[in-house]
Amino acid sequence: MIAVLGSANMDLVVTVDRAPGRGETVTGRTFETVPGGKGANQALAAARAGGDVTFLGAVGDDDFGRRITALLTESGVDVSGLVVSDESTGTAHITVDGDGDNSIVVVPGANGTVTELTDAHRAAIDGAELLLMQLELPLDLVTAAAVHARSRGVRVVLTPAPAVALPEELLDAVGLLVPNEHEAALLAGVADPVEAARSLAARGGDVVVTLGAKGAVRVCGESSTEVAAFAVAAVDTTAAGDTFAGVLAVGLAEGLDWDAALRRASAAAALSVQRPGASSSMPDRAEIDAFLAE
Ligand code: ADP
Repeated sequence: MIAVLGSANMDLVVTVDRAPGRGETVTGRTFETVPGGKGANQALAAARAGGDVTFLGAVGDDDFGRRITALLTESGVDVSGLVVSDESTGTAHITVDGDGDNSIVVVPGANGTVTELTDAHRAAIDGAELLLMQLELPLDLVTAAAVHARSRGVRVVLTPAPAVALPEELLDAVGLLVPNEHEAALLAGVADPVEAARSLAARGGDVVVTLGAKGAVRVCGESSTEVAAFAVAAVDTTAAGDTFAGVLAVGLAEGLDWDAALRRASAAAALSVQRPGASSSMPDRAEIDAFLAE
């Protein structure tokens, strides 16, 4: 089983020709509400890929929370560890302008109430092969969960997004770090992704840096392996990284070797970028198998 401890948000996405300046009102083109949050996205990607997934986090007692919970449940995610909080479901207010550039305001809401590692969290982690996390919940909680998992021999996989300086205690408990190239550069203070990965892997553990259409690179100790991306026509790369991380976690939890697990993760991410949307673009296990058999 994979325990995902992370955020659940409703993304409120507006498209405009030109984003408003301070004090200005503009007319938007479209408005959509899309379930998101890196935690929920990774849980969905892992469950679609055939993983046995339990999601630990919080939503509000509101329509957004109910929609996210229903989506997770329909996708086969165990939501018994998803708490209904007094705060509203987290929201991300996203404005996408005519050039495709976006500006985002995130209101953590219920996600911000997940501050304590509870007995329910511990029980789920103790029963898991792998704990998958991101940085959209409070850092102290993420650190406490990682330290607990590590003490129980449960492998900890962390997507360090949004990137912030990581406490040593957290880094020491993480078995696999999966940053994208920007996060890797920020964390390591080195622009070159392979150098950044080497520096991040120096404390032990594996580092896989994702490089968008250029694929990924895995560094463990002195050795580095390039992971090719599949050549596809991308229409929307939203949640490519979350799909990659979720599916990689499934492969590792199932005991695949690194090459096979990374290939499945790349295939799933390549499938997801060919379709619009985040959760709606994530492939299921049969699609990943068929794509790899081509
Ligand atoms: P993030 O979404 O976190 O920024 P990346 O953009 O690095 O993550 O993408 C994660 C993975 O998704 C890559 O390692 C690659 O396997 C896949 N991917 C991303 N963009 C493309 C693309 N244009 N074509 C094929 N695969 C892609």
